[in-house]
Amino acid sequence: MTSLMNDPTPLATTAPLPFEAPAFDRIKDEDHAPAIESGMREQLAEVEAIIADTAVPTFENTVVAMERTGRQLTRAKNIFFNLTGSATNDALQRVKAALMPKLAAHDDAITMNDALFQRVQAVYQGRRDAGLDPVQERLVERYHARFVRAGALLDNDGKERLKELNAEEAKLRTLFEDNVLKARSTAAVIVEDRSLLDGLGEEAIDAAAEAARVKGHQGRWLIELINTTGQPVLASLKDRDLRERIHRASIGRNTSGTTDNRPIIARLAQLRAQKAGLLGFPNWAAYVMDDQMSKTPEAAVALLSGLVPNAARNAKAEAIKLQALAEEQGAGINIRPWDWDYYSEQVRKAEYDLDEAALKPYLEFERVLVKGVLFAAEKLYGLTFRERHDLPVYHPDVRVFDIFDADGSVIGLFYGDYFARDNKSGGAWMSSFVDQSSLLHQQPVITQNCNYVRPAPGQPCLLGFDDVITLFHEFGHALHGMLSTQVYPFFSGTATATDFVEFPSQINEALATDPEVLANYARHYRTGEAMPAALVAKMKRARTFNQGYATSEYLAAALLDIEWHSQPPDAPQVTDVGSFERTALKKYGLDDDRVPPRYKSSYFSHIWGGGYAANYYAYMWSEVLDADGCAWFEEHGGSTRENGMHFRRTVLSKGGSKDGRELYHDFAGREPRLEPLLARRGLN
Ligand SMILES: [Zn+2]
Repeated sequence: MTSLMNDPTPLATTAPLPFEAPAFDRIKDEDHAPAIESGMREQLAEVEAIIADTAVPTFENTVVAMERTGRQLTRAKNIFFNLTGSATNDALQRVKAALMPKLAAHDDAITMNDALFQRVQAVYQGRRDAGLDPVQERLVERYHARFVRAGALLDNDGKERLKELNAEEAKLRTLFEDNVLKARSTAAVIVEDRSLLDGLGEEAIDAAAEAARVKGHQGRWLIELINTTGQPVLASLKDRDLRERIHRASIGRNTSGTTDNRPIIARLAQLRAQKAGLLGFPNWAAYVMDDQMSKTPEAAVALLSGLVPNAARNAKAEAIKLQALAEEQGAGINIRPWDWDYYSEQVRKAEYDLDEAALKPYLEFERVLVKGVLFAAEKLYGLTFRERHDLPVYHPDVRVFDIFDADGSVIGLFYGDYFARDNKSGGAWMSSFVDQSSLLHQQPVITQNCNYVRPAPGQPCLLGFDDVITLFHEFGHALHGMLSTQVYPFFSGTATATDFVEFPSQINEALATDPEVLANYARHYRTGEAMPAALVAKMKRARTFNQGYATSEYLAAALLDIEWHSQPPDAPQVTDVGSFERTALKKYGLDDDRVPPRYKSSYFSHIWGGGYAANYYAYMWSEVLDADGCAWFEEHGGSTRENGMHFRRTVLSKGGSKDGRELYHDFAGREPRLEPLLARRGLN
């Protein structure tokens, strides 16, 4: 029997808590590195045992055996990376910086292990005659592809070179992310005079005062930045100079001083091109997309650039309207990027008669979560959630829920962490502590993170409608994780192609405006009164507003990503990042400087720090599936349990066990059509 005294670290063994929930009350900063390092050693030993097996390589003794390796490492890594994303500190960041190259080297040690590859290769070659079912056969093919894509076919010199590049990439990615986090905090704008905040609501001003107080600027106001170029406060701040200051603080992030990311990304782009060259591809985008639904950069660029003329034309028409409004008000200005949101918010109010401030009291966070997001999950999929308070959490903000299926059986756990903190990455995301796998007897432990501004004490947290959409979106990913019914961890939940993975999340977004769901959550936080029908209608109509701008800023970022990753392996390192960016945007007709990219290169975390290199287009690719999928729901009677269960069976439960095209076909019974997307965005 093991006593707690003998347990070297709470990360080293399977936690005794239900569903292997992490023992956050016992995990200390110094536990992570030893747990991950021993996890790596353990996995290498497991791999050695597979190689040492003298029996003929089979699906069971090689591929399935591989699926069983590295459990301790996976567990320790999941906990560690969730913490560095949601509640980090200097000590954890230092551990991360030291670990990233080691983890990259560890992956290389497995995927470039020739003896192991020979076994995988043998199983791959015999897969047709091995009596495998289609999922098993696909698992063999995916394993084989993973090895080949990681360099298994390279000679020894090639392998060494690839290992060096991988280690360098891992190091630079961490450095990039560190810099982004630091710059977001240091670029926050301090306001000395309350009168400059004219236009912001009382609650927002109180929150800014609270943010300043927390940062040691008592008596002042702090405008914190979110990770996109656009900053929501620009829609309401009347003071033009302050708007400009905030905009410049946002786009200037990571272009100077100790957090300058420009040399880092120039080198990252170059080294990825070099990796692609080693692996036999003309550029990194071609390498990435070979493994995606899109298959080639040409297909992705065709989709994106096909949307540019309509998006840019709509953006120009929007700009003319904003300019006219500014002139009407005697502002005597040319619309600049920091004016766009301010005047477009007024156009929204005038033409759509929709005031975000009038909407917000009906969108109280807790109600949106429970009566909206969780309610919809019951409506479509029969799921219910019960909050529990007995499991340790890493921060008092974190909530834990049991997930129950319609028949009362327990599916797993759901963690929600919703408020912004300085020690948390920006944006919103879904992740997991434990991935579902029947082979490993694991039930899903899924997390969701958002960055809502914490209300002043005693105040409710009122959301904008975009925030509501974000909550539904990330919960769509969470459902993909929760409802997975896969045998092999390789195919669990969101382990799909990146240009498919946004499909379930975007389908879930649509539920935010489902009449029954909306009526259930959109109630005034004080009076409990339902959102008036006229306001609902206006809110839905306003979703089509400003789509020229919104589509253009997205396309600019997506095409910028592809341009960075389309450089040939022998291209010299880019020396002028700003000029590279301008040239790329001009090439696609997206160089209207009033509509800057959603992310500029220097703080584009998705592509440099995260897993979206040459993949940011995936949102639009998935949106084609989503828009057509929503049309399917409409054609079949809407968001009923029956339709929900069909989607759950054909898509949500399947993870990556089939190709995206096949999954889509299983669900809709047809190929996705482009028309629903064009219609939704008003671009047809
Ligand atoms: Zn997403």
